Amino acid sequence: MSERYDGGPVAALRRIAFLLERGREETYKVKAYRNAAAAILPLPADRVAAMVADGTITKVAGVGASTAKVITAAVRGEMPERLAALEKEHGGPLVPNGAGLRARLRGDLHSHSDWSDGGSPIEEMAFTAIELGHDYLVLTDHSPRLTVARGLSPERLARQLGVVEAVNDHLSSLGGDGFTLLKGIEVDILDDGSLDQEDDLLARLDVRVASVHSKLKMDAKDMTKRMIGAIRNPRTNVLGHCTGRLVTGGRGTRPESQFDARAVFEACVEHDVAVEINSRPERRDPPTALLELARDLGCLFSIDSDAHAPGQLDFQVYGCERAEAAGIDPDRIVNTWPEDRLLTWANR
Ligand SMILES: [Zn+2]
Ligand SMILES: [Zn+2]
Repeated sequence: MSERYDGGPVAALRRIAFLLERGREETYKVKAYRNAAAAILPLPADRVAAMVADGTITKVAGVGASTAKVITAAVRGEMPERLAALEKEHGGPLVPNGAGLRARLRGDLHSHSDWSDGGSPIEEMAFTAIELGHDYLVLTDHSPRLTVARGLSPERLARQLGVVEAVNDHLSSLGGDGFTLLKGIEVDILDDGSLDQEDDLLARLDVRVASVHSKLKMDAKDMTKRMIGAIRNPRTNVLGHCTGRLVTGGRGTRPESQFDARAVFEACVEHDVAVEINSRPERRDPPTALLELARDLGCLFSIDSDAHAPGQLDFQVYGCERAEAAGIDPDRIVNTWPEDRLLTWANR
């Protein structure tokens, strides 16, 4: 006798995709489930049930053999085998510690959609953030110069701002529980320390993360100048993944950029810019010594997922574990703040 499941086929497919992403499985393994969920979503429940009953559900474009199995079980009110297996494999705590601090986070300041190099639409990121209990999520797609990540031109960013408003309108029409999708950017710090987006567009955003993505091997003196240039820019709120290192994962490893960390973090304190604790397991940025230096110098922090897929929004606990270990006061972590305090800080 199989276990009962009453979430329905779309929820089952979405949950499988979420767990695969959370478990850092390859994107291609996830795509089939997200595509099938999107294909089934607009269909009336009785139509899906009828197609399951007469064995034609695989005729729906986007539904294959394995996703049909999931849909069939869910329609019958039975726990899909694949889902049960993944709950066991990827559903548990990601790390032993950090849950206490994670529970104090109200939102996430760094996330990507399929408008740049993320894998899912904006609304799927927002829905998942709501499911994770966030009050806000800042959408921070890349800026124009990062062409490999399909960085947004000024025109595309302006259009995206309209989409963010539409998503918020839609969510509140569903009787939203106070969640807000905030307008943001992960803006490239150019070689001369300027920001890679038009200032009047940056001014229209709620939160801006500034990161170095190019010429990571620049000499320390120039890199320090470059980073401080961005920190001094009144638009900058968060310094993203400051060393750029990669410690593990499919993209291989990459050493830390060299810069005068004391000078950079002192500039962050002076200009009220938060140092990001980037939660991605392959980044773990800043490294512990720098995290402790920033702590001792009095920096603010932001614990961000840098999610490129909905399930990766759950990565924040990795950063929380590190912040807890470093003894960082939760009140110095800007995403423990309520939305109004965050927005006042980010737009002073
Ligand atoms: Zn980045
Ligand atoms: Zn990012």
